[in-house]
Amino acid sequence: MNDAISADEATKIIEGIAREIERNTDYLTRLDQAIGDGDHGINLAKGFRAVLERLNDLKGKDIGKTLKSVGMILVSNVGGAVGPLYGSAFMNAGNVVEGKTEVNLSDMAKMFEAAEQGIIDIGKASFGEKTMLDAVHPAVIAIRKALEQNRPLIEAFEVSLVAAEEGMKSTIDRISKRGRSSYLGERSRGHQDVGATSTYVMLKSALDTLKRLRQGNK
Ligand code: ADP
Ligand code: MG
Repeated sequence: MNDAISADEATKIIEGIAREIERNTDYLTRLDQAIGDGDHGINLAKGFRAVLERLNDLKGKDIGKTLKSVGMILVSNVGGAVGPLYGSAFMNAGNVVEGKTEVNLSDMAKMFEAAEQGIIDIGKASFGEKTMLDAVHPAVIAIRKALEQNRPLIEAFEVSLVAAEEGMKSTIDRISKRGRSSYLGERSRGHQDVGATSTYVMLKSALDTLKRLRQGNK
């Protein structure tokens, strides 16, 4: 088995993410209502609907181009703080695999790191401030470690997802230092961060799609 993700698989992963965000709109809305303004799910779903509408144009493109297009679509269609944050994450991830029609684990680790840097460049947050970075950062560290251990791509993705899930759950006990929820101070504690949750939803969807595609090919 070729331990790399093809451009066709990458497009299917994007499509899966878009549909999964749509399915999770109400869940994300509830989380954002608790300590924010409740717009996260609706805004993200709107952005990913725009991605779905453009999916046919993305078919046959290299992975770098596809991810950059997704990033640009999100920047122009997602309101609130997350449009530019996720937009920049996808655009940065696309930049490091420019022209590639398949990505291996080493590329994946670079994409994850670039995505994290994009979020940091835009939002200036650090790990532990109850943002999406609390899920993204552990996922990046885990995938990098899995690469150093020469693990198969799917396994690397699995450990990265576990790390993201732990990071997402760790936001429950944290006080928000960024975005709207930071206005609540101590009262933000006890609630899971919605951005860390949407990050986890996207990563889980990506892995589920990849596994499904690989099972079908066996
Ligand atoms: P808004 O706060 O504008 O309503 P959203 O509700 O769409 O935006 O997104 C809120 C999420 O954005 C938070 O849960 C958090 O994860 C993320 N976020 C907010 N500010 C930052 C930041 N500076 N850096 C990284 N992530 C952030
Ligand atoms: Mg909000």
